[in-house]
Amino acid sequence: MSTLWHVLGAGSLGTLWATRLARAGLPVRLIVRDTERLHSYEAAGGLTLVEQGQARTYAVPGETPDNPEPIRRLLVACKAYDAESAVARLAPRLASDAELILLQNGLGSQDAVAAQLPQARCISASSTEGAFRDGDWRVVFAGHGYTWLGDVAHPVAPIWLDDLQAAKIPHEWSTDILTRLWRKLALNCAINPLTVLHNCRNGGLQEHHCEVATLCVELTELLQRCGQPSAADNLQQEVERVIQATAANFSSMYQDVANQRRTEISYLLGHACKVAARHQLNLPHLSQLQQRLVAHLHSLGLPSD
Ligand code: NAP
Repeated sequence: MSTLWHVLGAGSLGTLWATRLARAGLPVRLIVRDTERLHSYEAAGGLTLVEQGQARTYAVPGETPDNPEPIRRLLVACKAYDAESAVARLAPRLASDAELILLQNGLGSQDAVAAQLPQARCISASSTEGAFRDGDWRVVFAGHGYTWLGDVAHPVAPIWLDDLQAAKIPHEWSTDILTRLWRKLALNCAINPLTVLHNCRNGGLQEHHCEVATLCVELTELLQRCGQPSAADNLQQEVERVIQATAANFSSMYQDVANQRRTEISYLLGHACKVAARHQLNLPHLSQLQQRLVAHLHSLGLPSD
C-alpha cells in the first residue's frame, strides 16, 4: 500500500500534482486553508484539470490543517511567502519519518521550512511545468516540462519516485538541486523584474540588451562568490536564449503584477541581493534593480516582500 500523499495548497501546481497522482490510483488528500474553503471545495465536487481543452474532475478528498491524522508525505504547493507558516500549522501532525517535497520557486523558503523541522526530510524541487488557475478548484495544464528533485542533505533518491513514474509526472532525481535552483533564480533575476519595469513581454527585453548583459555580469559574480560556479556557466547566453525562445510570453512576475497579486520578489531578486550583502559583494545594478522594483510595487499598492 502506497503512503498517503498530502498536498498542501490547491493552486496551480498543487492541483497539477494531486490530479495526476489520483488518476494513477494513488492515495491523495488535499489540505485547504480552513473550513470555509473546505465547504467550497466539497461543493465543487473535486479538483478539475484542463488538458488540451478537455476538463476532468477528480474527487480528491479534502481536509483542513486541523484534521488529526498524521502526515508522512507532504507536498508543499503554496507560494514561497506562505510555505513557512503553512507548514508550521501542520508541524504537530508530521510523523517522525515525515518527508516534505517543496515546490517553491526561488530560494530562502526551503531553508526556512527545513529549519523549523530538523527531524523531517526536506526535498526541494525545481519545475519547468506550467499551469494556471482559470477558476476556483480548476487548473489549466499550460506547459509540459520537467521537475528536478533533490535533497541538499542526502544524495540518495527516495523510493516514492516510483509514484511519480506511475502518475506520469516527468521528473529526475538531481544530486545538485541547489545549483539548479540558483541557475533558475539567476535567470529569473535577469528577466522577470525588467519585464515588469519595462512593461513588456519577455521578447521586449531584446531592446534592452545592455541592461540585461550588465545584470548577467553581476549575477555571474554572485554565483561564483557563493559557491555556485556551475550555475554561472554561460549565464548570459542562456538568458538571451530564454528571452528569444519565450519572446511571446509574459513572465510570471509580470503576470502577478498585472493581476494585482503579491510577487515572490523576496525569494528571487531579494534573495540574490541578501546573499550578495552577506558576502560583502557590491552589485550596484542588481541592488538598483531591486530598489526600482520595490518602488514600482509600492506605487501599485502591492507588497514588496
Ligand atoms: P497558486 O496557484 O497561487 O497556489 C498556491 C495555493 O496555496 C493556493 O491555492 C493557496 O490557497 C494555497 N495556500 C496558501 N497558504 C495556505 C495555507 N496556509 N493552507 C492551505 N493552503 C494554502 O501558486 P502556484 O502557481 O501553484 O505556485 C506554487 C509555487 O510553485 C510557487 O513558488 C511558484 O513560483 C512555483 N511554480 C509555479 C509554476 C506554475 O506554472 N504555476 C511553475 C513553476 C513553479 P488559496 O487558494 O486559498 O489562496
